Amino acid sequence: MDEKLVKKRRIVLVPVPAQGHVTPIMQLGKALHSKGFSITVIQTQYNRVSSSKDFSDFNFLTIPGSLTDSDLKNLGPVQFLMKLNQACEASFKQCLGQILKEQGDDDEIACVIYDEYMSLSKAAAKEFQLPSVVFSTTSATAFLCRSVIAKVNADKFLIDMKDLELQDKLFPGLHPLRYKDLPTSAFGPLESIPRVYSETVNTGTASAVIINTANCLESSSLARLQRELQVPVYPIGPLHIAASAPSSLLEEDRSCIEWLNMQKPRSVIYISLGSLALMESKDTLEMAWGLSNSNQSFLWVIRPGSIPASEWTESLPEEFTKLVSERGYIVKWAPQMEVLKHPAVGGFWSHCGWNSTLESIGEGVPMICRPFTGDQKVNARYLENVWRIGVQLEGELEKEDVERAVKRLLVDEEGAYMRKRAIELKEKLESSVRSGGSSCSSLDDFINSFKDE
Ligand code: UDP
Repeated sequence: MDEKLVKKRRIVLVPVPAQGHVTPIMQLGKALHSKGFSITVIQTQYNRVSSSKDFSDFNFLTIPGSLTDSDLKNLGPVQFLMKLNQACEASFKQCLGQILKEQGDDDEIACVIYDEYMSLSKAAAKEFQLPSVVFSTTSATAFLCRSVIAKVNADKFLIDMKDLELQDKLFPGLHPLRYKDLPTSAFGPLESIPRVYSETVNTGTASAVIINTANCLESSSLARLQRELQVPVYPIGPLHIAASAPSSLLEEDRSCIEWLNMQKPRSVIYISLGSLALMESKDTLEMAWGLSNSNQSFLWVIRPGSIPASEWTESLPEEFTKLVSERGYIVKWAPQMEVLKHPAVGGFWSHCGWNSTLESIGEGVPMICRPFTGDQKVNARYLENVWRIGVQLEGELEKEDVERAVKRLLVDEEGAYMRKRAIELKEKLESSVRSGGSSCSSLDDFINSFKDE
């Protein structure tokens, strides 16, 4: 490590307590640790990462929060985060103050890197005059959308977003995104979105923004974002290729790998809707019958409680359960990266969370895109329209559309072309994190920027 950095070698990470945010920030921690930094993770008591053997070199600190059980059960993710930031701001400040008091001469804090939704970090870092850096776990395009939405007239935005006739039209200045592709959230009221976004894109006193993306995926959004923001933007991803950091908050059912081992190459559609999305009963049935009619094999992750009025899969029809025993497999949570790497997997039906999107492209697996909310809609549009490695299912979900989409991906020539393009992108992503690649150089530039502090 560079001599100038030897003294200031501790980096404090502040994750959002949700799988899709924890995973990339822990990977970032691993990447920075491999460059010689010590890592302290300050987390809340909700959805904690365990200090397992994979992170034995990291220091974990937990701050108390005053959210009630009913908050955890009833608040949607947006409200939960707003309340969490308020409830934990004082304890976060106290915790950071304690670290500063106890730090040794050779272990000073170089900077605080906080998830863009953990705004509680801003005030504390400012008070202690610590350099702070925003970490975005979404795509650069989604970040750019938030920046655009934060600046539009909020009243007009609300009217436009509710205007059904506008939904299929292109949103001005964000080609190829349509109104309906914008990252509004089903988890919170539309009214709160401009305010939440102006909070997240307001980098405040932060000295930089790190994004888990690569230039080869989003060069024009990155260039534009760099013009919009007042601080340097460092695209350093995909972090899951650059640094492995197993940080699943749920127990992975590895039996599905044994099941995949018995399937033919590229014959299985893998279905997972991430860690938060909830299915509707009708959609679940259409999916089930569409899969059945497609005659293709499938591995389906159904999280307990993700189908309404059902603890797990008991609301699926009996005939479908019989079919599962013939050519399907259902688990509560899968080792997703291993699944996507498996030669039997020919396609990924995804909600298009950014991690799932990067992980699928990173394995050259084409996708069926069925986004639910937020940035997933942006990612789905890019998968189908820009990278052309996905088929998006829009509107009412019908079993015929499900059947057709699965066949397009696994059986038709079109699927083979999508796979070819996905593999080309995978190779580009791999080069970007190798020495000399754009993301690798960007991480080095970010680290070197500390020298000027
Ligand atoms: N994931 C997993 N097993 C599963 C489903 C998902 O390990 O059965 C992981 C997946 O690899 C990804 C993360 O959970 O890293 C989900 O993040 P994403 O951004 O795709 O979606 P979110 O959960 O935030 O909606």
